[in-house]
Amino acid sequence: MFALLKSQRRRRLLERPIPERWMEAVTDHLPIFEFFPDDQAQRFLSHLKIFMWEKLWIGAGGFELDEEMKVIIASQAARMARGLPLSAFDRHCEFVIYPDHFVNPDEDVLPGPLHGEAHPFGTVVLSWPAVLSGLEYPCSGYSTILHEMAHILDMSSGYFDGTPLLHRGKDYGPWAVACQKYYSAMRDHPEESFLDLYGAADESEFFAVATEAFFGLPEIFADQAPDLFAEFRRYYGVEPLIIPCYCESHDPPDDDDYEEMGYPIIPPRDPMDNPFF
Ligand SMILES: [Zn+2]
Repeated sequence: MFALLKSQRRRRLLERPIPERWMEAVTDHLPIFEFFPDDQAQRFLSHLKIFMWEKLWIGAGGFELDEEMKVIIASQAARMARGLPLSAFDRHCEFVIYPDHFVNPDEDVLPGPLHGEAHPFGTVVLSWPAVLSGLEYPCSGYSTILHEMAHILDMSSGYFDGTPLLHRGKDYGPWAVACQKYYSAMRDHPEESFLDLYGAADESEFFAVATEAFFGLPEIFADQAPDLFAEFRRYYGVEPLIIPCYCESHDPPDDDDYEEMGYPIIPPRDPMDNPFF
């Protein structure tokens, strides 16, 4: 009964037109939207409506969230969801946005300051400056939004274990083989990895870091790990290689950039000592 009501509510929600001002924000902040194939553009817009209208949005620490900020965040989430079913993020319930990098009250478990956090009960916490730096360097392979939303997808299978709910039973075998191969290689030879070494912390972080690279550094990913890339392409249902790069620099943000933007410097992460995020 509840599922029926939910699906009726979602159908009505999806029939509502997209507000014009949302499209302006999408065009301004997600220029790759124009390169999405038609079916993916439609699915993107449906996911955008679900994120905007179904999820709870909370400004924390005195942060005043406006509609454009919500569209900026929801667009990034919809970008990664555009090849996934509309139910893909049903376990996600709310966004909590802080005005700066934040510290988890339980600092013993989660050393801060943090850029983002995903909770098993469906809350995604983001630092607004981290969101902005991900936008500023779209081809760096760094995106806090994609990272935390990947954790939510990971949880769709019931656990943070690096394997989301795959589309077909026969996908699990090749997925496990490819992920294990590159995860083990990263732990054994971190100096050779093309992925952010934070992915060596555990399987869940590996999936989140690889998701950032899949959307942000697809040429490098496809070149360095073609078998893993094929598994991610099948899971996410998109071909990121057809999306042209629009950044001014491929370089990831470094400490100087953060300083220029006025953000606190985040010490380099040691993946072996810091297995939480
Ligand atoms: Zn993580």
